[in-house]
Order: sequence, then C-alpha cells, then structure tokens
Amino acid sequence: MLQSPYPESIYIHLPFCKTKCPYCDFASFTERGSDIKKNYLEALNREISNFFECQYESSPNHKPINIKTIFFGGGTPSIHSAEEIATIIKQIKNYCSFDDEIEITLEANPGTVDRNKLEEFKAVGINRISIGAQTFKQKLLDKLARGHRVDDCYKIIEDIKNTKFKSWSFDLIYGLPKQNLNDWIESLDIALSFASPHISAYALSIETGTAFGDIYKNSEHQDLAQEEELSEMYQACDEKLSQAGLYRYEISNWAKPDHQCKHNLCYWRAEEYFAFGLSAHGYYQNYRFAHSRNLNEYINLFLNKSAEELKAAIKKRNIYFSTEFISKEESIEEEILLKLRLSEGLDLREEILERLNTESLNRLLDTNYLKKTEDRLYLENKAYFLSNSVISDLIR
Ligand code: SF4
Repeated sequence: MLQSPYPESIYIHLPFCKTKCPYCDFASFTERGSDIKKNYLEALNREISNFFECQYESSPNHKPINIKTIFFGGGTPSIHSAEEIATIIKQIKNYCSFDDEIEITLEANPGTVDRNKLEEFKAVGINRISIGAQTFKQKLLDKLARGHRVDDCYKIIEDIKNTKFKSWSFDLIYGLPKQNLNDWIESLDIALSFASPHISAYALSIETGTAFGDIYKNSEHQDLAQEEELSEMYQACDEKLSQAGLYRYEISNWAKPDHQCKHNLCYWRAEEYFAFGLSAHGYYQNYRFAHSRNLNEYINLFLNKSAEELKAAIKKRNIYFSTEFISKEESIEEEILLKLRLSEGLDLREEILERLNTESLNRLLDTNYLKKTEDRLYLENKAYFLSNSVISDLIR
C-alpha cells in the first residue's frame, strides 16, 4: 500500500492556564478575559482551515488527509469548554478523514473539570486524558503553585474512571525542591493505587526566565536533588512501574500494553506531524518549524490578513517564527537520537550504520550501555538515565 505523503498526527496548542506555575517555560498565560481567548480560537481555526486548503490546492486530486492522532496540549486545554474543543475538531474534520482508531488526547489539570465536563469532552471525541498531577504530596504541590490540591487529583481520577475514557495518564515530576526519595516513591505508590494505564515521569528542569530559574540559579542549591539522587529516583520509578505491569516504552514514559501514547510515539519515531497554534512546533515536508510565542502576534497574523494573503504566507512558510530545513543527513541523525529513546530501539539500516561512530558503538556495547541484535540497537537499562550523553557519543 502506498504511504500517504501527509503526516497522520496533529498537535494543537491551547495556551491558557488558571495560574502560571513558577517552573513553567511553556507559552502559557493566565486567562485574560474571554475576548482574547475567543480571538485566539478564531485565529487557530483560521490557521487550520487555510493551512489545509493550501495542501489540497497544491495537490487537488489527493484523497482526504487521514489523521490517526490529535493532541491538545498547553497551557491547560481542559479550561476550555467542550464546545470550543468540538469546534477545533470539527474544523480539522472539514479537511481530514479520521482513522477508525483515532487517538484524541486532551491535557487536563485537576480542579478544572468535573464529571459533566468530562462526559462532554468524551461526547465531542476526546478519548484519552493526560492528567497534570505532578505530585501527590500536598506540601510539594503547594510549592509548585499549580492552583490545585491533592484532593482535586483524587476527584479527577474518580471522574475519569467513571467516564470510561479509552485511556488516561498521569504526568509526574521528580526532583522537586525538597522532595526526597521517599516522597517520590509515595507519589508513585499513590499513582499506581489508581491502576493508571500510563505514567509519564520527568525530572524537574529549572529554566532561566521562570520564577524557579531566579530562585534556583545555582543548580547545586541545597533544596534540589543532585545527579545521584535523581538517578535513584529514576531507577525507583522504573522498578515500581515495571513491577506493576507498566513497561517503559520510552525513556520517561511507562504504559500497560496497548496504552502507549500513539501521538508521542510519532515524535520519537521521527515521523512528521502537523502543529497549529501559539509556539506549536511541527515537522512537515522536511522542515521543522515553530510558531511565534507572542500571543498578540499570533492572533494578528491569522486574523488580520485576507485569505489570499494568508495562503501566500502559508505556502512560503512565512507564518512561522522559525523554520529549519532538515537534510537527509540531519534526519538520520535525528532518527538515531529519537529512536534510541524507545524500548523498541533503532533499526540498523545501512544509512544509519554509516552515521554511527564504530569505535563508540563497540565501546558502549562492551560496557553494556547498548545492546544489539542482528538488525536493531537498544539502550541497556543502566544507560536510560544517561541517555543523552550515551546517544550523542554514538553519532559520528
Ligand atoms: S499548568 Fe502547565 S502550562 Fe500552565 S503554567 Fe502550569 S506548567 Fe505551565
């Protein structure tokens, strides 16, 4: 069967949040009144329609683009009404066919939805919820100033389970200020007690330009876990989750069979994907691109141009803040960097083998950081926490 020349995944960025978390580096804003939200959604829907119209204009006989995954990320997409989410899904459906097994994920923060709203999200097509829980320790949650309490987490889990979404997931963070190994294990135990089918666990990253970036300028700050403790937290996480039947399918993601996030697998398999909305990053026709992070700039770009002007800008990729052409050589390098993150590993095709540093490869195999079968290469268990340095060592 001929492979479609179009991506099968769409990322949609919805940037509004109840509060701005002190560690957050995403393009996210506290709600600024209904006008700006309304204008943003209008701009977003205009981007989607004009973008797809351009694709069909340049390839008029093409069958509808088939979509297998949509991911609503943010921001806090769950602060939108189901009607607003439905409008975006409908806009995509005007131009694309949906796969029978389509996965549509919505990020939801505790305290932003109740059972009724979840039922409404399900009714408009959302079938996977990713919960931004981060920690189940109230003391630590207070420091993260996320505007929700642990009780809100319990409530959203109960509501999600009762709503019977096809799948759902927790996002957890380790290495929080003043978090010790026991705190972390306690959060994992609580997450597991709810039989979550998917858990993402990321180390806290201190970013400059955020409130935490100012407080924890010194990465050796006494409140922050250092490399060895972070490594212990990571190992504890992998052990606990694998004992509970969630296997690590990517460095920071564990799932029960059939509950992997299909959308994120597309990124890690180095496949192309569409992306719409403020600061959204995409990969299409060998270009990686990023939208502006400036809310007014984004809104003005898509609301103040005529359809003709907009289409001309889309065709020239002038709607993006940055674009980068990815050469064949660079795409192979990206494939190595991304696919080794996955437990399914990297297929050792000739062009991949040519990019690997043979000396490093042999050394990493001898020291059990990598393992190899006839046609695939994988990270060994002990290499997962050090994956960045191991993988970059490998590329010629
Ligand atoms: S809820 Fe998420 S996107 Fe919003 S400010 Fe907090 S970390 Fe950032």
